[in-house]
Amino acid sequence: MTKRRNPFFGRRAVLATMHGKEQAIAPVFLATLNVIVAPAEGVDTDALGTFSGETPRRGTVLETAVAKARLGMERARLPFGIASEGSFGPHPLFPIIPAGFELMAFVDDERGTTVHESLVIDETNFAHIETSRMEPITQFLAQVGFPSHGLIVRPNVGDIETALVKGIVNFPDLQSAIQAAAALSDDGCARVDTDMRAHLNPTRMKSLTTLAMQLADRLSRFCPSCAAPGWGRVKVIRGLPCEMCETATEWVLSEVFGCAACTHQDERSRADGLIHTGPANCPACNP
Ligand SMILES: [Zn+2]
Ligand SMILES: [Zn+2]
Repeated sequence: MTKRRNPFFGRRAVLATMHGKEQAIAPVFLATLNVIVAPAEGVDTDALGTFSGETPRRGTVLETAVAKARLGMERARLPFGIASEGSFGPHPLFPIIPAGFELMAFVDDERGTTVHESLVIDETNFAHIETSRMEPITQFLAQVGFPSHGLIVRPNVGDIETALVKGIVNFPDLQSAIQAAAALSDDGCARVDTDMRAHLNPTRMKSLTTLAMQLADRLSRFCPSCAAPGWGRVKVIRGLPCEMCETATEWVLSEVFGCAACTHQDERSRADGLIHTGPANCPACNP
């Protein structure tokens, strides 16, 4: 990695968002790269997929983020675009707890590159509950941080869009939405979901700041071969050997760093210097 003045210094980038993400992203890009990030006006990012499911996302998370960034770039007529895309569900390692996956992409039409970073988020309020009344769900409301975090209400069974209300941030609105949705649901219950859109979810906004720092940091690192910005980790290689029998385990053996513009890659051993793992993690010693 070579340190030099970043080529984006003083330039403008457009952020495709309908949900106020510039609050989390713009200050980081200004401080780290001296890039001025402005939200795209009049871009319908919901057309590419919504959390509440009216519009399913078609491509991968990365493809959707790039498509969003391109919408903003076309609208603002700028060569640099930023977009992020989140998905929430069971934790990949511990399925009983919820987790988030957040990806942020920087599309650069001057170099023809896309640089992206992602984050697995352990701290999320992502949750839902089914109920016919407000009273039994006070513990749920406290757990998901309502009303500082917004909610979505819909009929639990049947035609969910008939009484879908998003962005609920006060108790009277929540109560009437639950009553209306429960009355229309085949089972008499409303489904209450956390609203994961950034402007209604301060916890998510915080993860976007962390991710923006990762992405801005990557954009300030340069390929040792071609000097393009965006040098960083592209994959990990598993197979750290067992200290008893040398069998390859699922533990990470090395990290591969790569360039966004050329094919140059560099494989590095673990940053923590570990060259073996214990027999407890070994498929041969501890099947
Ligand atoms: Zn390169
Ligand atoms: Zn072993």
